Amino acid sequence: MKVLKFGGTSVGSSQNINKVIAILKEKSQEDTVICVVSAIGGITDKLLKAGQLAKNKDKSYLNEFEIIKDIHFKTISELLPKPSKPITTVVEDKLNQLKELLNGIYLINELSPKTSDKLVSFGEHLSSTIIAKTMKTQGFDVELKNSQDLIVTDGNFTRAQVNFEVTNNNIKSYFKTPKQITVLPGFVSKSTSREPTTLGRGGSDFTAAIIAAALKVDQLEIWTDVSGMYTTNPKLVKQAFPIDNLSYQEAMELSHFGAKVLYPPTVQPVLDLDIPIHIKNTFDPNAIGTVITKQDNEKNLTVKGISNINDVALLTLEGSGMIGIPGFSKRLFEVLANEKINVIFITQASSEHSICFGIDKSDAERAKKAIDTAFDYEISLHKINPIVVEKDLSIIALVGDNMKSHQGISGKMFSTLGKNNINIRAIAQGASEKNISAVVSEKDVKKALNALHERFFESNTKQLNVFITGVGNVGEKLIDQIKQQRSYLKKNLKLDVRIIGLSNSRKMVFKPEGIDLNNWASLFHHADKSSIEGFYQKVVNLNLRNSIFVDVTANEDVANIYEKYLKQSVAVVACSKIACSSAFANYKKLQNLSLKYNAPFLYETNVGAGLPIINTLNNLVASGDKVISIQAVLSGSLNFVFNNFSDKKNFHDTVKQAQFEGYTEPDPRIDLSGIDVARKILILARENGIKMEIEDIENKSFLTKQNLESNSVDDFYDTLIADEAHFQKLYASAKANHCQLKYVAEYKNGKAKVGLQEIPEGHPFYNLKGKDNIVMFHTQRYPEQPLIVKGAGAGADVTASGLFADIIKIGSK
Ligand code: ADP
Ligand code: ASP
Ligand code: MG
Repeated sequence: MKVLKFGGTSVGSSQNINKVIAILKEKSQEDTVICVVSAIGGITDKLLKAGQLAKNKDKSYLNEFEIIKDIHFKTISELLPKPSKPITTVVEDKLNQLKELLNGIYLINELSPKTSDKLVSFGEHLSSTIIAKTMKTQGFDVELKNSQDLIVTDGNFTRAQVNFEVTNNNIKSYFKTPKQITVLPGFVSKSTSREPTTLGRGGSDFTAAIIAAALKVDQLEIWTDVSGMYTTNPKLVKQAFPIDNLSYQEAMELSHFGAKVLYPPTVQPVLDLDIPIHIKNTFDPNAIGTVITKQDNEKNLTVKGISNINDVALLTLEGSGMIGIPGFSKRLFEVLANEKINVIFITQASSEHSICFGIDKSDAERAKKAIDTAFDYEISLHKINPIVVEKDLSIIALVGDNMKSHQGISGKMFSTLGKNNINIRAIAQGASEKNISAVVSEKDVKKALNALHERFFESNTKQLNVFITGVGNVGEKLIDQIKQQRSYLKKNLKLDVRIIGLSNSRKMVFKPEGIDLNNWASLFHHADKSSIEGFYQKVVNLNLRNSIFVDVTANEDVANIYEKYLKQSVAVVACSKIACSSAFANYKKLQNLSLKYNAPFLYETNVGAGLPIINTLNNLVASGDKVISIQAVLSGSLNFVFNNFSDKKNFHDTVKQAQFEGYTEPDPRIDLSGIDVARKILILARENGIKMEIEDIENKSFLTKQNLESNSVDDFYDTLIADEAHFQKLYASAKANHCQLKYVAEYKNGKAKVGLQEIPEGHPFYNLKGKDNIVMFHTQRYPEQPLIVKGAGAGADVTASGLFADIIKIGSK
């Protein structure tokens, strides 16, 4: 004999019921079959809603009733194109009774737990009737049996306790001569005084387990809408996958802590008899599903699953009067027991100064009132404080029988949550170590589950969620490079890099699952209006793990918002130099926030585009080397200008050409004044641990006073023509000395300067071509021959690859 239970979705439509019938047909060819069914999906909620409306004197309960009626009749008419009279009559009868009950509730304005149970029981009665009658019409050897005649409970309505002695006898005697298929409604039962009761929401699983245990069958099958018990809630974590084997204990822990696929009490009746529970998918009957038995067969897996309970309130009883006094907790939990409040989670500090416990949010006010009253005397003496209630919390639990023999699991759990800026309000771990639970804010649940799932079940891949502001030249190249490298990174570095958000000063677009990079431009074309704050808010609200904000603008307002990102533990990758070359206090603040919130702040492209200059310097410093001096040519634009300028080509035309070819800023004064180079050497000095401001850098400009005081770009160009003789003089002097003109930045002994220099032949800077940059580090370990980094120091492609390298670096942390 087999017991099969089909859930709400499985019987949720005529098509689905046909799938159920096909499964029953196949199973009943091998064995006699007992089939327990839920109400059609969503009907229990609708019945409760109708009841509430009626109770509140809201006539729209009748609309709700009509919806319920239509759903059932539609199902019948689709199942049986010519419904036979008996089936229509029985269903009509039941619906009439339901309507009368709702009218009654409306009239008396009351919906007691007792009436509520009577009301919801219609759901399972209707579904079981329709299925049994349909099968009968199709010629099956089938019988409908009302579980209320078999399952006897106490009078604790909505969550009745089963009297197993009577129930087991009833079941055993009824199934002495079973039909090939018996269909029963799940969830419903009757009290000893013959009032309808129910076994609690989701209780059809339990009905099936009670019958399976009473009859000591070989196997209990729970047929649902997913392929087993998953590693975590598949609705919240896409990467979750079914667990092949679980022990009874593990299944109980996971279901108690929120894995809705199995109603928690279901395990108990079958556990003692060692009856396996097989969770199967009605919509994919060939999928293996999950087998729950006494012994877990997957010994090597430590954490088997992660579950969550939402709507939790955390209550804290605190006070010096609790220390060392026995009986405090006894009193506390007695109060809760008397109020019939279920405690999900308890933790007590070893100082005994406080007890903290989690309960369902809906019980919170009642619990507070009862406890404050019970401890009235102690509160009046200030021995304890009135109870503190915190709401909108969730419990996240890691479950696994073998966790006890492995160290470091809780460490991994908490560091993963911490890295993702998820604040842990309370922690509990039973001595059996089958479960480690943490209370977190409800808004963080999805992120927490995803981050923990990644940590414990996808140890191989890490998802990076990237948000890019600035989709100009460099931004576009970055998107292209990510698109090209995605599969390589996934395969070789186990990094799943996704671009979730894109923006510029006008538009922004988000796709929480990742933007399709083949199609981003057209998506962006139709994007919403953007703002810097709006983009930030969206990143925060999405609350994704491993989030990275990439600034590819040169906008000061964007640089000013890094602080907020870091405080949310969102990593920042900055192309713009604005933040790092702003006031030292701001630079330092960002570094400190990065440390405090465990959010990397990287800006390799601030100096030398994609060249590994900052990284090299950081490595020298971190490994204990001492920097003696830094000499560098850091401006591609100035390099271009002085490589092209000569006695044959005037300075004005050379600068014009540099601008035309895209080597200078729109305002060439920013490059020619040396301010850009000064910012770069400032950043290098700071990375070397020096407290320095931009004003501390000596900047002896090669421009004339006139050039520097020009009011506009056009004005500036005019002054260049006027001062041609000045520039020719610079050139002639260098030529006479057999030197090349280079714009050099230098750092030595805590001081920095920038300026034009005559570089003699043989010097590493002498032959520097085009837009190349070069940096020479003289250090204690490189005293004579400096460590040199040289290569293209400007250009969209190399800058984008520098940004990309920063992103990958964050992923590899
Ligand atoms: P039924 O109506 O068949 O009893 P339920 O809705 O009660 O089905 O339970 C199945 C649902 O449980 C799944 O659709 C899924 O959304 C949810 N669920 C939550 N956690 C888990 C988990 N760890 N594994 C599988 N399903 C889960
Ligand atoms: N129909 C009931 C509910 O929705 C019982 C069940 O489906 O298991 O809770
Ligand atoms: Mg269920």
